[in-house]
Amino acid sequence: MTAGSELDPDDWEEFRALAHEALDGMIDHIRTVRERPVWTPAPAEIRARFAADLPQKGASLAEALEIFDEAIKPYSTGNLHPAFMGWVHGAGTPVGMVAEMLSAGLNANCGGRDHIGVEVERQITHWMRQAFGFPETSAGLFVTGTSMANFLAVLIARFALLGDEVRRSGAPASLKLRAYTSEAAHGCIAQAMEMAGIGSDNLRRAPCGPDGAVQVEALRAMIAEDRARGATPFLLVGTAGTVNLGALDPLIEMADLAAQEKIWFHVDGAFGALAAFSPRLAPLLKGLERADSIAFDFHKWGQVPYSAGFLLTRDGAMQKKTFVSSNAYLTRAARGLAAGDFWPCDYGPDLSRGFQALKVWFTIKVFGTEALGRSIEDTCDLAFYLAQRLSEGEKFEVKAPVTLNIVCFGLRGENPGPRNRSLVENLHLSGAAAPSLTMLNGEPVIRCAVVNHRTRREDIDDFVAALEKEAAARAG
Ligand SMILES: *Cc1c(COP(=O)(O)O)cnc(C)c1O
Repeated sequence: MTAGSELDPDDWEEFRALAHEALDGMIDHIRTVRERPVWTPAPAEIRARFAADLPQKGASLAEALEIFDEAIKPYSTGNLHPAFMGWVHGAGTPVGMVAEMLSAGLNANCGGRDHIGVEVERQITHWMRQAFGFPETSAGLFVTGTSMANFLAVLIARFALLGDEVRRSGAPASLKLRAYTSEAAHGCIAQAMEMAGIGSDNLRRAPCGPDGAVQVEALRAMIAEDRARGATPFLLVGTAGTVNLGALDPLIEMADLAAQEKIWFHVDGAFGALAAFSPRLAPLLKGLERADSIAFDFHKWGQVPYSAGFLLTRDGAMQKKTFVSSNAYLTRAARGLAAGDFWPCDYGPDLSRGFQALKVWFTIKVFGTEALGRSIEDTCDLAFYLAQRLSEGEKFEVKAPVTLNIVCFGLRGENPGPRNRSLVENLHLSGAAAPSLTMLNGEPVIRCAVVNHRTRREDIDDFVAALEKEAAARAG
């Protein structure tokens, strides 16, 4: 035996049998998901198993798989389950699972070089250009999630204004760079401003109308006010599908405003952008095709297993200039493995990168945009159905208009906030359903984001029944 060979199986047939068993176990787990509680908290003795000391001696794969089955698989997040409606979580698909396994097998490093993984990533970029009406000169890049994609967009927007100098010496404080978005924007936009060193105080947030969409006139006024005071507006961020309400900012007017002001127009389309796959919903995204950059996730409405965020930038060359560096160990060749004219590492901060493109390729290849678009439409229909069911009953009231797939609601009556909170917690503990909680007008409200392609009308009916039962138990 040569050194190191211990890390590959001695007995490949034994390994094959175990691997097949593990895969079968996960297939059964997904297939029977609706027979189990949405979420099961891990008991203390289970958690204690993961406070063990660093092992010097290995265990067998069979032992590790046994621990997985007993102590990990039953206590996962719950987002595979059709009654999981909390936050904005994708459910994944069995196809995506297989793709992840294959991608782990290839173990490709998609930072660069001349290999097929990079070609597959380019294929996804090509598809997304078509989905969003972006030109051939645009660039696409996989990142962990929309938080990261938004961060890169802030950096590219700043580079677009200030050029190379900003990479060497940062932005002069005297410029007073300012970005603009809505009060309903995701917290990661402010965080991106912090990480970029511009500071979250330099992100101005305009109020929204009753539908949760930003008021463009307020943005315009803020920009004018800042210019008059000698600040430098550089970025306007719209949201296609706000995290709280699923609202859509007026993207056409925002694109006009950004064009008039000559500032970068970025759209956070974390979950909402993929509504582009639905011919019925796509018109709601009008204006998105005019963005300078779009951030979105395949792991939400696209049902690709975590994680798969994406940034699409109209001016791909600008993105490259923001990040590219010349290090001797990354020298490009005209031929061989070090060749290739597209190295993803030139377009963002990640050098070593996994093959995220493969699970997206499998998902889109197998389902096509039609089935994915239909499943997105279905979740919106279910959200409207949920809102309708709740409005018909006596115990609950819907707190905000439903635009896409998110319903915010709460108990009727005086000071319902604390009761909404404990109702959500009780539902989680009962395993019946997993909505989440958010704040609306200073009050905790129940929030359901129907993202899961497994959720059906019966699940909504069961959910309403569970809500009513829980509310009645508390009242009684
Ligand atoms: C989920 C979400 C984000 C953050 O995306 P991650 O993939 O979790 O990093 C940003 N914006 C909106 C609107 C979101 O829904």
